[in-house]
Formats: sequence, C-alpha cells, structure tokens
Amino acid sequence: METSNHQLAHVIVIPYPSQGHINPLLQFAKRLAAKGVRATLATTANTMQSIHASAAVAVAPISDGFDGTDFAKAGKQGDYLTSIRDHGSKSLAKLLHSYKSAGSPVTCVIYDAFFPWALDVAHRHGAMAAAFFTNSAAVCAIFSHICGGTITLPVNVHHDAPLILPGLPPLNACDVPTFIRNPSSYPAYLAMKLSQFSNLQNADFVFANTFHQLERQEVKSAEKNWPAKLVGPMVPSAYLDGRIEGDKGYGASLWKPLSEQCAAWLNTKPRESVIYVSFGSMVSLTSKQMEEMAWAVKSSASYFLWVVRETEREKLPAGFAESVKGKGLIVSWCNQLEMLAHPAIGCFVTHCGWNSTLEGLALGVPMVALPQWSDQVTDAKFIEEIWGVGVRAKEDEFGVAGREELLYCFKEVMEGESRVKMRSNARKWRELAIEATDEGGTSDTAINEFVMKLKIAVQN
Ligand code: UDP
Repeated sequence: METSNHQLAHVIVIPYPSQGHINPLLQFAKRLAAKGVRATLATTANTMQSIHASAAVAVAPISDGFDGTDFAKAGKQGDYLTSIRDHGSKSLAKLLHSYKSAGSPVTCVIYDAFFPWALDVAHRHGAMAAAFFTNSAAVCAIFSHICGGTITLPVNVHHDAPLILPGLPPLNACDVPTFIRNPSSYPAYLAMKLSQFSNLQNADFVFANTFHQLERQEVKSAEKNWPAKLVGPMVPSAYLDGRIEGDKGYGASLWKPLSEQCAAWLNTKPRESVIYVSFGSMVSLTSKQMEEMAWAVKSSASYFLWVVRETEREKLPAGFAESVKGKGLIVSWCNQLEMLAHPAIGCFVTHCGWNSTLEGLALGVPMVALPQWSDQVTDAKFIEEIWGVGVRAKEDEFGVAGREELLYCFKEVMEGESRVKMRSNARKWRELAIEATDEGGTSDTAINEFVMKLKIAVQN
C-alpha cells in the first residue's frame, strides 16, 4: 500500500563530492529507499548532473561555494573544506527547513564523516544525525586511536618495532596511513580525517562501509570511540544479493564510462585472461611509475585493460597505445563493477582505494596491490596478508614498483602456484559479502534496525 510522504521516514544523505564517496553513500540511500524510507541525496552543483541513480532516490543541491564554477578553483584542499563547511551548513539548513515546510520533515541526516558540521545542523533542525565512514574499519580504528590518545603523532614505526594496536595486526611502516606517518605531507587531509571524530559522541548513529565477517576484530579495536554499525559492502545489489530490482550500477559517474567498448573487447577474450588496471579517480602516478606499468603490461603473457584518465594520458610512453593494439585496451574511464564482474578478468591491479578494495572482494577478483598514499597502504596490507586475496608490489628506494616486480606480481596472480589459494580466498570473501547483504545477513540486519528506529522516530 502507498504511504503518503509525510508518514515516511525521510533521510538526506550528503557525500563528500568525489567518486569514491558518492558511490557508497548513494548506494546506502538506495538500500534505505528499498526498505521504504524516503531518501534524498544532497550534493554539489558540480556533481549533481552526474547522478542518475534511480527514481527511488531524489537529488537535491547543496552548495560548496562553487556552484556552476569549477571547484578546482578552490585551490588548496583546506580552502575547499572551509568553503563547503560554510556554504554547505547554510544550504543544508535551508533544505531541512524547506522539507519541513513542505510537510516532509527530514528524520535523519546521514552525513559523510568528512563533514562533522552536518551533525550540528541536523540537530539544530530537529533531525537525527548519522555519520557514515567510507574507509575500512582498520583505518577508522587507527584514526580513532589517535583521537582517543592511544597513539600520538607522528607515528614512528621502525623495522623491529611495528605499531601495535588492539584488534589490529602489527603494522609496519609501509602499512601505516601516510598522513599519520608523515603529518606534514597533507595537513588539510589529516585534519579532515581527524575531524571525523570531533563530535562523534553526539551522533545518533555511526555507520561504516565494511562487513562483520571481514573486519570483526578491527571494529572491536575502537568501539569505545567509534561505535560503528557495519552496513557494507555498499556495492549495487545486482552484484551481491540481487534483491533490489534494476540496481545494476551505482548511478553516479563523474566521467563518461566507455562500457560498451570495454564489454565488446572483453567478450572476445578467454576466461580469466585479462588484467584490469585502475588507480581510481584521484591517484596521479609519476611518469616513471606509468612507464614501468606500461612496460609490464606489454611484456606480460596476459591481455590487459587499463583505465588511464584523460589527465594522466600524457604520461604514457609515446606511441604506447598503438604498440599494444590487440593485446591491450586503454580507456579513460569505465564502469569498474561491470569490468570486475566480467568472466574475462583474471586480476585487478588496484591502488587499493577502499571502494575498489571492497569491489574486488565482493566480485571475488584476486588483486595486485599498488597503493600510492593515504589509507591505501593499510588496505594493501589486508589484501595480501590478512584476506589472502592478492599480492602487494614492492617499491624500490624511490617509491616505484619496477617492471620486473610488476611482472612477477601479475604472474603470481594469473599463473603462479599461489593463484589457486588466492582465487579460493577471493571466492570465499565474495560469498561472505553476499551473505552479509542478503536477507538476515549482518549488514542487512543492521540496516533493518536503523530503518526501524527511523520509523519509530516518525511515529513519535
Ligand atoms: N571507478 C569506476 N571506473 C573507473 C575507475 C573507478 O567506476 O574507471 C569507480 C570504482 O568502481 C570505485 C570508485 O570509482 O567505486 C573509486 O573509489 P576508490 O575508493 O576505489 O578510489 P578513489 O577514487 O576514491 O581514490
């Protein structure tokens, strides 16, 4: 039976406006909408036109101070964050007010944990506030231990003295998020990561895009300062439980995916014969690293599909694309999930962004980890050592994973003896991801409990 709008619980979901944040938050909105919650995604003018989710999720504007202009003009990251905080707070307040006036008040604001200011705006306007974390539980635990005072910055980790934290495996220097090993490297990003915990004790709910079976211990590590409910993996339903009709993609793409071209090419390749290479939406490789990668994929015995964003393309060796015709396809952007789900893909070479990591796990594709910065290094450790679904490429003293090393890693995943074990682990994680999101699974149950609380709040 149809329920009129004013009886429905209503959530506004606000992602940080980048691909790796819009995807999981929009997916959460879709999950909630599928359970009878009215969901609105509030995002910036620059990203709004890239959202084509589904009729189930409305899209509303929120200002970052760069409406209609290129937000790259913001310059430094710190300036952008200040701008989105100042303009975002005001436009969120207006949005909350207008929904209330229209008779569909917002029950809960689900904000990207990068935006702690949204919590105060929500509470001031009588809505509940839920923080949504887009990193792994292990990474969240590390940052929460800093905020809780268990560890102090900079984190000094020596070869014979790894960082030891409860519930986490010993972390060597190369496993510790780069911002905290070297706090002066990206101070604005570090401040943003730490600010996630600044008022978290006032949040009505805390969610994380991971799942119980995957990070049971890690979530316990920090539960005092970070009482998160695990609701992931936030991957479209068609790739997991299949319970949301038509949910075949995130419904947001900041660049145009060349899906048909990729699928047509992959369809001509044998099962598990192609290496898929992608460094996500933000990483910029050095020209040297690009050259090493180019050499490695060209020399490998496998086919390859490599996503090289337009802004990175000039770093490819001259004439490279032409020289690998037939063996490799280079595209500026694709629908990554479709690629990972394609039977021709045998290996995922990834920068280990958290979404890419979860997608590799959820689709059961073994990985070559080539982390570049931030939390990617911690995700890489788990991919190789804890979950056993990949191998991490070792860097030389200049921070470059050389051609021979890359070739060795490709072989390990595509042909080596360890391939069998990695594949079977990858299959296991896929099954567990499906179990978590399916009816009665741990993530599904956590979402149902949230929905129940929203509905109770509407009734009261
Ligand atoms: N992605 C995509 N097409 C591409 C490359 C990436 O759709 O060609 C998506 C990918 O599926 C993931 C997101 O972009 O959901 C990247 O998020 P991640 O956390 O992995 O990395 P980030 O871009 O934030 O560094």
